[in-house]
Amino acid sequence: MAESFDEECDYLFKAVLIGDSGVGKSNLLSRFAKDEFRLDSKPTIGVEFAYRNIKVADKLIKAQIWDTAGQERFRAITSSYYRGALGALLVYDITRRATFENVKKWVRELRQFGSADMVVILVGNKSDLSHSREVNEEEGKSLAEAEGLCFMETSALENKNVQESFLQMITKIHEITSQKSL
Ligand code: GDP
Repeated sequence: MAESFDEECDYLFKAVLIGDSGVGKSNLLSRFAKDEFRLDSKPTIGVEFAYRNIKVADKLIKAQIWDTAGQERFRAITSSYYRGALGALLVYDITRRATFENVKKWVRELRQFGSADMVVILVGNKSDLSHSREVNEEEGKSLAEAEGLCFMETSALENKNVQESFLQMITKIHEITSQKSL
């Protein structure tokens, strides 16, 4: 559910980043939150999150985005990570096929721990590395269709489609939440 937050904003939405280690989750988040690219990010243990205020349909939304901060390496993501999350970016790396093949595993986890109407965007990151691409865009699209997810390819390095993918998720969350409160 969306919560009222404070006078400054109308809603607080929690969303999570998931996907295999090294696919670019932290860099996508820092792009979205601060618009900068960290070239040598070192994931630490413990959940990290970032806030950003966004205006959607005249409402000020505070998006709180959680990052696994390396815990996915140890399969240590627990149900509390997903609790209350209204959306997720499920990220794979277009240059590492194994990360794409694991998407189904992440979807199963989302269905197990997340809410049924969670908005999920499947994100194929590192689109700048076309020379080492192992997953083509069509495969990403059809997997997303089969699983009922939205889809986008991004590059955190080139800041391509990063804002768009977060904004798509937040706008859809807002649509669902405002329909519920009618
Ligand atoms: P995480 O473990 O999923 O949070 O992944 P990170 O954000 O730590 O990124 C893993 C590595 O991929 C780092 O070396 C980043 O510099 C690199 N990286 C992340 N996004 C991109 C991208 O869009 N393009 C390229 N070329 N490298 C990226």
